[in-house]
Amino acid sequence: MESPTASTTTPNTDGVLDTTRALPAEASVVIIGAGVMGAAIAYHLAERGVSDIVIVERDTPGAGSTSKAAGGVRCQFSDEVNIALAARGLEVLRNFETDFGVDIDLVSNGYLFLLDNDDDVRAFTDNVALQQRMGLDSRMLTLAEVAELAPFVNTEGLIAGAFNPGDGHCTPEAVVAGFVTAARERGVTVVKNCEVAGFDTDGRTDRRATSVITNQGPISCEQVVVAAGAWSGPIGDMAGVDLPVKPLRREIMVSEPVDFDTSRMPFTIDFSTSYYVHPEGSGLLFGCPDEVDDWSFNDKRDPNWLATLAEHIEARTPELGEVEAKHGWAGLYEMTPDHNALIGEAEERPGFFYACGFSGHGFLMGPAVGEVVADLMTGRAPFVDVAAMDKRRFATTGLRKELNVI
Ligand SMILES: Cc1cc2nc3c(=O)[nH]c(=O)nc-3n(C[C@H](O)[C@H](O)[C@H](O)COP(=O)(O)OP(=O)(O)OC[C@H]3O[C@@H](n4cnc5c(N)ncnc54)[C@H](O)[C@@H]3O)c2cc1C
Repeated sequence: MESPTASTTTPNTDGVLDTTRALPAEASVVIIGAGVMGAAIAYHLAERGVSDIVIVERDTPGAGSTSKAAGGVRCQFSDEVNIALAARGLEVLRNFETDFGVDIDLVSNGYLFLLDNDDDVRAFTDNVALQQRMGLDSRMLTLAEVAELAPFVNTEGLIAGAFNPGDGHCTPEAVVAGFVTAARERGVTVVKNCEVAGFDTDGRTDRRATSVITNQGPISCEQVVVAAGAWSGPIGDMAGVDLPVKPLRREIMVSEPVDFDTSRMPFTIDFSTSYYVHPEGSGLLFGCPDEVDDWSFNDKRDPNWLATLAEHIEARTPELGEVEAKHGWAGLYEMTPDHNALIGEAEERPGFFYACGFSGHGFLMGPAVGEVVADLMTGRAPFVDVAAMDKRRFATTGLRKELNVI
């Protein structure tokens, strides 16, 4: 890999949106965070006829983890709730341009997992069977099939692959822009540069009304939704609600244009190392973990990370070793103890909802989670039962592990 230009450019997510509004004194619902979750929840609540919805966003819409995502959209999960959410999300994204009038650059070249040990092959074989029962086309691949589909992969040390042709990737900030614009058209107020600093419930926890304290003043409301991604834990603490979400830094590098055909290249993941690559415009997008995990809110790039990435490229996709780095960025995953999301209403604080902890795969789930959370908040039965994602599981049924985490 050639030496990088150390640009820290990240996509501009504010785009065409005029989100500057004064903070109202009252709302029916306050949504904290305008990432893909907050934007989709607001849109779906407004679609259900809820009025006086306000999103408070510390920065600008999409500026959190959503704009840092690799844009991967896949249905290959081990947990059937996640498969259902992902499949619904993908359906929304396939129709996004028609329904929301925004081109999200969806590329549907599939997701290819590369597997190098028997335990993973057994687990993926079971998961693929579950995905097939749920109507997906995913399948296990032999090494010959892997080599045919992804000739740039060094198959040495691999045993098999898993592939779903319908998976792919798209542009996260375009999805946020689509949801925010549609939400605003339906009357939602989006207040940017508005940071939540606490809650005032007058010492009572037995009623729905609360006051959300922000740097622009208080706003009282009936319902609150924490959709603050990696920052959800501290916001839960402000309300006395335990949301076990921990930030974990991840980085991405986008290359200069490449001179070979990437038009059929799948989103390719070396599962045991979490190294991945997919086409991005006329170049490639690469990602992998830091050599040593950084469990903090530090989202600055690590100068050593490119050397770690270069080792993965050399080991698994040596043919891509000559690409030149163009720019890159770091962002935060929002990890939970079992790598499954937290979705529900806090039993200790009626009216206090949460949708967070998506553990690095929340972008693809956002469109479906928006719908599900809006259903929960308006007393409707969602298309999939997400009761198992309630945070109470840690004290009752225990961890509910999602295995396919990158
Ligand atoms: C490098 C990287 C690659 C990724 N790749 C993928 C991928 O390929 N596919 C995938 O599905 N997912 C991916 N993810 C994960 C994905 O980005 C997240 O799961 C998803 O974006 C979470 O969306 P969100 O709306 O919950 O959070 P966010 O997008 O982080 O939004 C939360 C918002 O809350 C705001 N906020 C925080 N604190 C406050 C406060 N006190 N007051 C007001 N507002 C506040 C933040 O500014 C932010 O805008 C990736 C993440 C990273 C970092």
